[in-house]
Amino acid sequence: MDTILVKDRYFKPFITADEIARRVEELGARISADLQGRNPLFLAILNGSFVFAADLVRQVTVPFSISFMRVSSYEGMASTGTLREVLGLTEDIEGCTVVIIEDIIDSGLTMRSLVDSLKALRPADLRICTLLTKPGNLQTQLDIDYCAFEIPNDFIVGYGLDYDGFGRGLPEIYVVE
Ligand code: 5GP
Ligand code: MG
Repeated sequence: MDTILVKDRYFKPFITADEIARRVEELGARISADLQGRNPLFLAILNGSFVFAADLVRQVTVPFSISFMRVSSYEGMASTGTLREVLGLTEDIEGCTVVIIEDIIDSGLTMRSLVDSLKALRPADLRICTLLTKPGNLQTQLDIDYCAFEIPNDFIVGYGLDYDGFGRGLPEIYVVE
């Protein structure tokens, strides 16, 4: 793995495909053990979590269903965490075990709004599963049930995460130089 150019910035290797696969396998096993008999509904948050979600659910050995949601927040250099709307939730989640699948929790404000919106729909249990967390940036208290990697506050790309629309297909995770 070498330094690569994504659009107009250089990124260097950070987490290998093997490390990702190992952690995803571990999370899948934990979720399967924790949610046996619960028929969880996974809610994968588009766009960034599509690669992680696809790999994760193939490590889950209990019956589940999956659906996809888009949360649109105001765009800018940094996340404002203001959710304009929660799009695409067609399921009735009242009384269900719901697991949100997210790519990365940075300030946590996006997840905070999402959790509050979903809790109003009265699921029996609402859990958070994220590929990455930046604990140094977290601005709100969140119970993160499943997290594959805690990372520093640097911008990363790959494995579903983009830089201005590019880099989502990279099998490894890269960090900006
Ligand atoms: P939060 O509301 O937690 O600050 O923002 C979460 C969202 O910001 C993520 O879902 C993701 O879209 C974006 N984000 C935060 N950090 C990064 C990063 O290092 N790389 C990429 N590609 N997106 C990020
Ligand atoms: Mg996202």
